[in-house]
Amino acid sequence: MIENMSKGLNHRHPHIAYLSVGSNLGHKLENCRSGIAALTHSTDIRLIDQSSIYRTDPVDYRDQDWFVNYVVKIETDLDPLSLLKFLKSIEHAAGRVRPAIRFGPRILDLDIILYDDAVLDESTLTIPHPRMHKRRFVLKPICDIDPDIKHPVLQQTMSFLLENLGEAEQGITEYK
Ligand code: ADP
Ligand code: MG
Repeated sequence: MIENMSKGLNHRHPHIAYLSVGSNLGHKLENCRSGIAALTHSTDIRLIDQSSIYRTDPVDYRDQDWFVNYVVKIETDLDPLSLLKFLKSIEHAAGRVRPAIRFGPRILDLDIILYDDAVLDESTLTIPHPRMHKRRFVLKPICDIDPDIKHPVLQQTMSFLLENLGEAEQGITEYK
């Protein structure tokens, strides 16, 4: 008991999370970059790695402009709900307004894809992200960073999930 308490007090407990970043309105890449810059201004978040940057076709709601998408790997002291709250505040500060159309155009979208090996299903937060294993625009960039990590529910690696994606329709090319 005493040992546990002193552990809690004396050790910070950083977590690893993968975040998906996207924009399809205005200066798309600039919106994403500013969002990530805002993220790393927090002393509770350190940027560890970043994927290539992609130009992707919209998937869920297709009648809209193409997206800039990529993934960042962070180390954080925030718990998942605090991290989500912080991401939403950054989206809001970027000028995002909610929502005319679900899955519709957005200035900045910041999603939590993975958080350690956590499996979470709360009303406002599901981890792993519930659609990540079906999305080329998430799996491809994650594979740039860590292709061998496993989805904590499906128990399959990111590269396996990418290679076994069903639809050929999700257009994605490197952004120049
Ligand atoms: P999208 O699913 O297109 O990213 P939004 O960004 O509008 O849609 O998010 C809708 C809601 O999804 C958020 O308000 C948030 O509470 C919830 N949500 C559930 N799981 C996650 C997650 N892993 N990452 C980010 N938001 C999530
Ligand atoms: Mg989102």
